Amino acid sequence: MSGGDKLDFEIRPNPAPVSAADRAALLTNPGFGRIFTDHMVTIRYADGKGWYDARVEARAPIPMDPAAAVLHYAQEIFEGLKAYRTADGGVTLFRPEANAARFVASAQRMAMPALPPQAFVDSLRRIIEIDREWIPTDTDGSLYLRPFMFASEVFLGVRPANEYLYTVIASPVGAYFSGGVKPVTVWVSPDYTRAAPGGTGAAKCGGNYAASLVAQAEAIEHGCDQVVFLDAVERRFVDELGGMNVFFVYDDGTLVTPPLTGTILPGITRESVLTLAAAAGHRVEERPVSFAEWQADAASGRLREVFACGTAAVITPIGEVKFPDGEFLVGGGEPGAVTMALRQRLVDIQRGDAPDPYGWVT
Ligand code: PMP
Repeated sequence: MSGGDKLDFEIRPNPAPVSAADRAALLTNPGFGRIFTDHMVTIRYADGKGWYDARVEARAPIPMDPAAAVLHYAQEIFEGLKAYRTADGGVTLFRPEANAARFVASAQRMAMPALPPQAFVDSLRRIIEIDREWIPTDTDGSLYLRPFMFASEVFLGVRPANEYLYTVIASPVGAYFSGGVKPVTVWVSPDYTRAAPGGTGAAKCGGNYAASLVAQAEAIEHGCDQVVFLDAVERRFVDELGGMNVFFVYDDGTLVTPPLTGTILPGITRESVLTLAAAAGHRVEERPVSFAEWQADAASGRLREVFACGTAAVITPIGEVKFPDGEFLVGGGEPGAVTMALRQRLVDIQRGDAPDPYGWVT
């Protein structure tokens, strides 16, 4: 294709797929992001030519020139979403068009070409069709899809590349946090910030995650599961977690989440939670929440629950908060009723166990 939105995929099935017995053994305890399916999707892009050579082929290493632009200037973006097996044997995807739109927005921020949303969604369908047997059947399991794109042009020089490779790989996964749905502990980073105004915080680019690793490592050193980033200007307001958005639940039933001002990833789970919470009768607000407010409201009991949300962890309660000067519990460290009800509502829609009034499920 060049110009149009629909791509013809050439299908080259893997001549040596994993045997059914080996696959079943791998699927008994997949962990997160450790094992991969038999295939991948690749689509190439070149300036003047557009998108071309769309393929479904055996998953294999990608040969790369040492001067490939991504290795030097990090022009790379990605997405993450899950395919679920439904009770009747079907397969559902949750809001893939939203991931396609965010992929376009990320590409624009990183001066990369926009993959047409239809090609993005088609690429997901293709890999699911061919690797369907890899989708776990247990209720915690799903097939995590990882579309990504990087600058493949061979050159040294700081400018947008004019050749790119788009790829989709797939990984069967169990629960993201090994403890299942139990509250996690978070570390509020005193030293590191994630994104500054005008920066790349709203784009899902690899560089954002590279920059977050040292802060996440510090969280783990302090016995925490995830890092909380404060805003880069005043170091006062809560932005988000290393890989999740955050919600606060108050005693009057109001849900609050930080606003999308360009430093936060616009999570698809976040947006879905805003919709579901409003439909359940909660007041929802997008406004800044300071860390001082978080601490004071947890102490007074006005703040009842805090939870993290994202594709990987779905909705996960935050039970304990640590920072250099101390630590405190939220809701006694136990999962809150609002958190768990929203989680169940979302999971039921995602897995096709409840009607989907929003048209979110494909
Ligand atoms: N924030 C960050 C930094 C993330 O990496 C993610 C995961 N994509 C999220 C929030 C949640 O986004 P989503 O709900 O779309 O998975």
